[in-house]
Parts: sequence; C-alpha cells; structure tokens
Amino acid sequence: MSVEERAETSTPRHGPPAARPRRAVVLGGGLAGMLAASVLTGHADEVVVLERDRLPATALPRKGLPQARHAHVLLSGGARAMESLLPGITDAWLAAGARRMALPTALVSLSAQGWIPRAAERQFLISCSRDLLDLVVRQRVTALPRVTVREGVEVHGLTGDARRVTGVRLTDEGNGGPGTLAADFVVDATGRGSRAPRWLTGLGLPAVREETVDSGLVYASRLFRAPPGAEDFPLVSVAPSPGRDLPGQGMTMHPVEGGRWLMTVSGTRGGEPSRDNDAFEPFARRLRHPIAADLIARAEPLTDVHLNRSTVNRRRRFERLDAWPAGFVVTGDAVAAYNPVYGHGMSVAALDAVALREVLAGEVLADPRVARRAQRALARTADAAWAMAAGEDIHYPGAVGERPPAATRLLRGYLQRLMRTGTVDHAVTRVLLDVMTLSAPLSRLFAPDVALRVARGPGLRPPHEPPVTADEMARAGLAAR
Ligand SMILES: Cc1cc2nc3c(=O)[nH]c(=O)nc-3n(C[C@H](O)[C@H](O)[C@H](O)COP(=O)(O)OP(=O)(O)OC[C@H]3O[C@@H](n4cnc5c(N)ncnc54)[C@H](O)[C@@H]3O)c2cc1C
Repeated sequence: MSVEERAETSTPRHGPPAARPRRAVVLGGGLAGMLAASVLTGHADEVVVLERDRLPATALPRKGLPQARHAHVLLSGGARAMESLLPGITDAWLAAGARRMALPTALVSLSAQGWIPRAAERQFLISCSRDLLDLVVRQRVTALPRVTVREGVEVHGLTGDARRVTGVRLTDEGNGGPGTLAADFVVDATGRGSRAPRWLTGLGLPAVREETVDSGLVYASRLFRAPPGAEDFPLVSVAPSPGRDLPGQGMTMHPVEGGRWLMTVSGTRGGEPSRDNDAFEPFARRLRHPIAADLIARAEPLTDVHLNRSTVNRRRRFERLDAWPAGFVVTGDAVAAYNPVYGHGMSVAALDAVALREVLAGEVLADPRVARRAQRALARTADAAWAMAAGEDIHYPGAVGERPPAATRLLRGYLQRLMRTGTVDHAVTRVLLDVMTLSAPLSRLFAPDVALRVARGPGLRPPHEPPVTADEMARAGLAAR
C-alpha cells in the first residue's frame, strides 16, 4: 500500500461540499465495518477498509475477533437488515453451512419465567460460527465495486480539526510504518476497543459521555462434535434464575457448520465459569436444568474451553456532543456494546448500516450536516438493545453502573409478568420474539392488546420439562425423561 498524504479533502476546507467525494475510509474490517463499506460504495469513488489483522480466506479464528470462539447467533431483525444491504446473503450463509432456525419452533429455551413453548415460526435466527458469518459478508463486500481492504494497517488517530475530519493516522506493517491517509469521509468501526473518544478530544472536541453497566459476566465456550443424526438439534438455552440474590448463570448451545455444537456457559460476578475443561460439564449441570450437561456428556469435545470477559454494557453518547466534525461517523460496538447473552450486537451493527444508508440517501458525504445526522440516527438504533441489556444487568449482585430510577422497578414487574404470560400464551410469545429479535420496537410490549393479556396473566402453570421431542432425544443419544 502506498501511504499517501493527500492535500486535505477533495473540497476546500469548510467550503461547499463536492458533488461526489473521492475517498471514504472505514476503520476496522469486522462486521460493522464491512456493512458500512457496502453502504459507502454507493456514495464515494473509492472505499478503503483499514484492518489491523490479516483476514483469513476461510472461516478461521483471528486475533482481532476473540469473541468468535463463543456462541454467536444472528437474530432475524439483524438478518433482514443484512439481507437488505447485501441481497442473497442468507442463501450464501446457508450454502456455506449455516442453518436458518425457526423461532420458537427450533428453540428449547428455559426463560427466567419458564420453558418457552415451541410453536409455528414467528421469527428466525442464523446459526453458524461467527467466523463463517463474517467470512461470507466479507466475500460479498470485497466483491463490490470500489471497495478495497488494506490489511495489517493499524489506525492511531484522526487528522483534521474540530470542524472536519480529513483523514486518519496509521501504521502499515507491510509498508514502512507510520503515515496518514486523507479521506473525505471516515467511519470508525473498530469495535469495543475503539479510541474514537480520545481521537476526538485530540481534535479539540469535548469529552464524550460514557455509560456502563457491568454485571461481571464471564463467557466460557467449547466446541463439540454433535452425535450423528443430532447435528440439527434445536438451539438450547437456559436463562439465569429470576431470584437476584444469586449470580446469573446460564448457557446457550447452537449447531454450527461441520456437524458441530458450540456451547457457551456464562456467569455474572461471583458465579463465573472457569477455563478448566473438567469444570465445564459440571457447571452446566448445576444450572436450573441439566439438559445441556446431558447433551454434551455424549458429545466429543473438539477444543479446550475459551473464556471471554468483554461483556460490559458500554454506550458512548457521541450524539450528545454540542459540536460534531463533518466527515466522521462511529458505528457498531464502537458506539454501543452489550452483554452478549442478549445476542444483539451484530444485529445492531446491521441496523446501523441501514440507518446510515437512509441518512445518506440523496445526500453528499462532504455536507457538514450529514455526519451529525447519521450519528444521531445510529444512537437511536442502539436504544432498544441498550434498554434490554443494561436495564436487566444492573440488577445482578455486584453489578456496577448507574441505578435505574425507582419507577423502572414497576416496569420490571410488568416485564416479568409478560414473560411468564409468554410461557403459556402464544400471542404474547410472538410479541416477545418480535421485540427480542429487534424485529419490532420495544413499545410493542406495551400495546393495549399485549397489556390486556399480561393483566390476565398466564392462567396455567408453565411446563416443567424441556419441550424436546422423543425423536430429538433419541437422536442426541438421550433417553426420554
Ligand atoms: C463473547 C461474545 C459473544 C457475542 N455473541 C453475540 C451473539 O450471539 N449475537 C450478536 O448479535 N452479537 C454477539 N456479540 C456481539 C458481537 O460480537 C459484536 O456486536 C460485533 O462483533 C460488533 O461488530 P464490530 O464490527 O462493531 O466490532 P468487531 O467485530 O470487534 O470488529 C472490529 C474490527 O476492527 C479491527 N480493529 C480494531 N482496532 C483497530 C485499529 N486501531 N486499526 C485497524 N483495525 C482495528 C479489529 O481487528 C476488528 O476486525 C457477542 C460478543 C461477545 C464479546
């Protein structure tokens, strides 16, 4: 790569915007970065993605994506958003070995309030390894016209001033160390570790307000070979106990390509899982139901246990700064990252890209107002996932973060009753799935038809045993209970 210093932007600084800026630069070649690049290709002559890692040509782990060793499901709200950005992507995932799993049909899930009934498809999820999911997206985006990816390039900061970002500072490991790259539009998609707040203060902008809620959750994951015939076992999940005097412990297991099951167990502060291979199954057995331990007792482990502690809910309020530089937008985990048990991060990254596309439609990238409008739109995209994750996590023992106002307790009471009603009332289950898969707004939970059913309550008791068929049990090598 030639590290090139172009004379500022293609427009006179702070002057009228050019009709079509020459170069958009995306920082980070993960999911949010690739999806942003797919949008920018319609607006710039050249879209350059700068990625610190070497990106593998197959679905292999890489250093910059350590979370890929852990259960990652793409919920239908995010899958539809990606499909609208990259038409045909769902078929490409399925052709590469991913599964499309109907919800709640292919779900064996013990929620905090009871087993969720399996019924006709309402929503769905894409189940495969995170490495495969990213690979397919990357292949599609890098095939788009005008997109290039420069690997082994680490970004250190921005150039420009508080009014306009004009490029980035970088180190190119393959081409002579430090340099700068001029850009008319820069999108930061460097994930949870993004240093955008520091870069912005370096340009003279005020500090960005950051909100965090940390339940101290630790993820521990292991890959297993599924018993022959059980490769398409439903997604299994056991949520933590609703009593909040105990740490929250749970698990998720989903099928991934190559006839494997990926199982993750997790625990909040005081109840964390360990890296010890021998402790993995006993941890799963102590959960509210031992179904996952029973399943893996008969499955062959393919890896050691991997831990991940990057689970704090953290949101940066870029949109609240009084001033915002033209030509700069932050997206994905760099804006808001969530406790992964809610499975929302990738979907929000996709919804961010859709929001960016909507803001940019008919606009000129170099228009100073466009970046600010986009940043505000991306903040709205994060709202629902943030409310669900941070609103819940703050109640775990030892959780650190801002306590919600007392009125929120009433809201929690309503939501718990709603979830309990959903274990028996299919209409409520459907609404819950719509909201949890980011396919419907949070406000849907409070619509009159739902509130009426919640007021009536579940009536019946939720089922005591997991909704697994005798055939599924037999194929997984388990005797019917
Ligand atoms: C344990 C765990 C499990 C999860 N499970 C789910 C799930 O089931 N469903 C779900 O939807 N989400 C899940 N998530 C969230 C999901 O992983 C993130 O939301 C998603 O990866 C965000 O994508 P991103 O592109 O913003 O960031 P990332 O995927 O982190 O990508 C950032 C990229 O930027 C690169 N980079 C970083 N710094 C620089 C730099 N200075 N210069 C150049 N390149 C740089 C990195 O190498 C990386 O490629 C989980 C997260 C964790 C931690």
